[in-house]
Amino acid sequence: MAEKSSPFIAPQPIRPSAPIEGFALDSTNTPPSSTTSDSHQTFSHRDILRRALNNDASNITPALPESIISPAITPPSTPGGTVVSQPRVHPNETTQTGTHTKGPKLLEKLPNVECIVRARIPTTTGAEMFLHLYQNDSDNKEHLAIVFGNHIRSRSLDRVQEGETEMDRMIRGAYVGRLHPGRVSSRLEDGEEVPNEAGALQKGHTESPLVRIHSECYTGETAWSARCDCGEQLDEAARLMSMASEPTSSSTEPPVDGGAVSDAADGPGGVIIYLRQEGRGIGLGEKLKAYNLQDLGSDTVEANLILRHPADARSYGLATAMLVDLGLGADASPEGIRLLTNNPDKIRAVEGPNREVRVKDRVAMIPIAWRTGGQKGIRSAEIEGYLQTKIGKMGHMIR
Ligand SMILES: [Zn+2]
Repeated sequence: MAEKSSPFIAPQPIRPSAPIEGFALDSTNTPPSSTTSDSHQTFSHRDILRRALNNDASNITPALPESIISPAITPPSTPGGTVVSQPRVHPNETTQTGTHTKGPKLLEKLPNVECIVRARIPTTTGAEMFLHLYQNDSDNKEHLAIVFGNHIRSRSLDRVQEGETEMDRMIRGAYVGRLHPGRVSSRLEDGEEVPNEAGALQKGHTESPLVRIHSECYTGETAWSARCDCGEQLDEAARLMSMASEPTSSSTEPPVDGGAVSDAADGPGGVIIYLRQEGRGIGLGEKLKAYNLQDLGSDTVEANLILRHPADARSYGLATAMLVDLGLGADASPEGIRLLTNNPDKIRAVEGPNREVRVKDRVAMIPIAWRTGGQKGIRSAEIEGYLQTKIGKMGHMIR
């Protein structure tokens, strides 16, 4: 990355990576069912799988002995060069294990987030979005907000920084309207709306913005994997949000061809919060091991548990904090958001510990293959099992 030295996008210092075994085991992060020393004993995968397949009395998941279930070694951030050397598990964070009955993980306090840079991205579908890159004080990853529509702005990005020039502001994306060659001011130009002081959502439309919290999935989004539906869900979320960015039918002016996309982006818009928590938070390497276990007969939940990861190691405090920064919190947007998800636990998780965000409605995402009777969407032997596990073991409501 040539820009790595730029003060605008330089990530927080990356601490040396540590082997997973190096993490201190945090007793507050150990479920009551696995407090015996047995939980840290090592087994070969074959032993574990044999035990797993022979034991259907566990109350965690029908096929697993409780003793091997421990989230204690789940890395605090996804491995891949940015593993931090200290466990990041917040002492007040509740633990979520294999079942979906324990409720979401909630931090007592939201992390601090700051939007470092934003840029306009025209997309292959013709819709435009603004990509916002965030830093935070709870991990070293560059989480993203993909914003559709013209009315959603980041407060931390818009905040005036000491000593900065107009050019500095335009380079980091803290401008209103549209950049063009020769532009000299980041501020209001002829005919452009000015964001209000809080950077909050501009009113004037009745619908609430659509929000999707999406966790990174390299295999499903980039490497064409049909083991999961992450890529399809991301595409579908973007499609729905670009529709939400368009003016409602009351508008008399139809969009004009070419170059008028941003003028037309007058609807409530939408945000995809893209969290860098690969493989439900366990990292790509562990996810690939889980795939091998699935090929050996485990489902997605069992495979994570055999690898001693919680079925879902993700947490959503960052997403809540980013939504608040984008003016979609209860303080600036009391009417609330519409959350695009099949996972009811996510609603409470996204609302935050003190209801910093209000979720007004849940909008379901039905797999395209189910909606079209298998005509379109993902088709694979693996995807049906994956979706059934989401419904049966993780409490998802995909209908
Ligand atoms: Zn995926």
